[in-house]
Amino acid sequence: MTRDPRYDILFEPVKIGPVTAKNRFFQVPHCTGMGWLRPRMLAAMRGVKAEGGWGVVCTEYNSIHPSSDDLPGPSASLWDDSDVRAHALMTEKVHEHGALAGAELWYGGGRTANLMTREIAMETQSMPNAVGHPHQTRAMDKTDIRNLRRWHRKAAIRARDAGFDIVYVYATHAYLLDNLLNPRTNTRIDEYGGSLENRSRLVRELIEETKDAVGDRCAVAVRFSADEEVGEDGVPIHGERRDMLAMMAEMPDLWDINIANYWVEMGTSRFTKEAALEPYMEFVKQVTTKPVVTVGRFTSPDTMVGQVKRGVTDFIGAARPSIADPFLPAKIERGDLGAIRECIGCNICYSGDSLGVPIRCTQNPTMGEEWRKGWHPEKIEPKGSDKKVLVVGAGPAGLEAARALGARGYSVMLAEATREIGGRITREAALPGMSEYARVRDYREQQMFEMPNVEIFRESNLGIADVMAVEADHVAIATGANWRKDRFNGQNYVSIEVPGTTPEILTPDDIMSGKMPVGPTLVYDEDGYYMGGVIAEKLCASGLDVALCTPSDVVSEWAGKTSERWRVRSHLMKIGVEFVLAHALKQFDGQIATLVCEYSDAEKTMPFSSVVMVTQRSPNDALYQELMATVGGDTEKLPFTLKRIGDCEAPTIIAASIYAGHKYARELDTEVDIDQPLKHDRIDVGLTLEGKHLMEGN
Ligand code: ADP
Ligand code: SF4
Repeated sequence: MTRDPRYDILFEPVKIGPVTAKNRFFQVPHCTGMGWLRPRMLAAMRGVKAEGGWGVVCTEYNSIHPSSDDLPGPSASLWDDSDVRAHALMTEKVHEHGALAGAELWYGGGRTANLMTREIAMETQSMPNAVGHPHQTRAMDKTDIRNLRRWHRKAAIRARDAGFDIVYVYATHAYLLDNLLNPRTNTRIDEYGGSLENRSRLVRELIEETKDAVGDRCAVAVRFSADEEVGEDGVPIHGERRDMLAMMAEMPDLWDINIANYWVEMGTSRFTKEAALEPYMEFVKQVTTKPVVTVGRFTSPDTMVGQVKRGVTDFIGAARPSIADPFLPAKIERGDLGAIRECIGCNICYSGDSLGVPIRCTQNPTMGEEWRKGWHPEKIEPKGSDKKVLVVGAGPAGLEAARALGARGYSVMLAEATREIGGRITREAALPGMSEYARVRDYREQQMFEMPNVEIFRESNLGIADVMAVEADHVAIATGANWRKDRFNGQNYVSIEVPGTTPEILTPDDIMSGKMPVGPTLVYDEDGYYMGGVIAEKLCASGLDVALCTPSDVVSEWAGKTSERWRVRSHLMKIGVEFVLAHALKQFDGQIATLVCEYSDAEKTMPFSSVVMVTQRSPNDALYQELMATVGGDTEKLPFTLKRIGDCEAPTIIAASIYAGHKYARELDTEVDIDQPLKHDRIDVGLTLEGKHLMEGN
């Protein structure tokens, strides 16, 4: 296969100040949940992106000083020489593949409470912490500003010394510099407040000083938002941003443009589609002659080419598409578009940062595991034997197990009870806004299509006799889970049915199978992720009166980790879903639901015809248990190895099922030390007593 000449433009080198990117594929700064805490995991992960063809690979946000600390969100840091050594691990890996490495310098201001360092965060004014901690910032005085400029300069020099080729001035996303630019947050009356010129003074000073410090060797980039806010129905309100950009247009070597609203910029696919930032970019390339990068969850090379040809951007910026497929550029380059693992826009990757844990990805189970497990997104160990493997169930766990085993060269049979493969993916992708989730199935189906050693048997609902008859050497049970009709009260599963009544109580499985309730319906959400909101939306769209009740204080609580809960709640309210927050569903008799207040235990009643329970799921593990029962629970006595994976082992998110399937395939016929299943990354411990540096080893 060779590259389609239509895509040649994407592989043109682009000069950025003193350095040149080998192509237009630009991994913009993105968080990883690793930061300064896990340098080797980080270096290996970024190195894989460079290997996959990205011309530029950046860090996440790099704190320039301890008074900008985001723990439990682990930022990177450029505070001292140990950071230089840690970052050098990454820049070396990135350079090995001919890519440029970029470092984003960052000062958090009002968004950081400095819970680890206990330093006071400095801001334009004394203001409350923007993410809800009971701390306020200190208004910067002249000395503070001088100090900040010095810290920024020192951090830039450290970035250069660590081997970075691009150094960012980060002036967006409601951090300090953005707040200085913003007339609503900058209420200063000194030379850093008031006029546009004054408000942009510090950004201009930092650009100049960064250029002065490292500009002979490194390009200086500015991350900047092209709008002031997202207006009605997503129409950008540019305000004075055009003038601001024009004022600084030729100062840096590169403009990295995004938008004011982070929840739109990195919106989930339910709400935000590919190339969504284009309307915000309309004036940028008219105002500056410097190269421009922007994002848009680009996975289609045709869309990418269109963006460059129409002058929207010079670089194809990507965070999520590079996470889902670190080899996206390489696949376009070799003309293998069918092998692209497209991002589904679920933002599970972002949840790692929200939770302060290493990044994971629904589509790419190797993301974050490059160093500690030695997993590579495109390479996998050849099979360890000529054994035959049966995988039962073609949901995400079974699909990924079969695909990865197939890639290892095993002879694989994948049996699926229904006509459609995909399991929950196929069912959920038909719900409102969820269509991109089908990419999880489609990528794997496409890959297996090209593997003669993998056979897929549809409409094959296997029982124990069928499993035995196959005479496989290894059997993986990936039969999924079913939504329950009851709820967990903290200790036990309890029914909500009023004894003696037969109320209509449905589950998401019923709705996805086409069974719709009649009359006013209560969606009871104890799951807290996306399913409750999506089911409520579907019922509402079919014309039903819908209320969504949850014991949580907020709608779709866990979806806050993926950044979507705020959009979910506004959207549901807009389409007419009524909310009942902080109430548990105690009973339903077919007409009246009894709800108990989580704060006071007070009961209230509401009339409904039906209830849809979005609570917990039961593993569909009957086949596994029956197989185990044939040998009294002693797996050694079975003529094959037996494992259950995915939801059938423990109901979970799709990303974890994909991971389970992948892990099963990787570990088959390999020695896994279950006492020490992975390498443990930790921060640089500095020097030994003898002065020997301890960065090596594991
Ligand atoms: P997971 O997320 O763990 O992959 P899913 O629920 O998405 O789980 O998928 C499980 C799949 O297993 C479904 O497509 C279901 O039809 C299939 N399945 C369940 N029981 C059997 C069985 N006995 N034989 C074959 N396929 C089965
Ligand atoms: Fe895309 Fe989801 Fe992977 Fe993030 S976790 S890169 S949004 S598929």
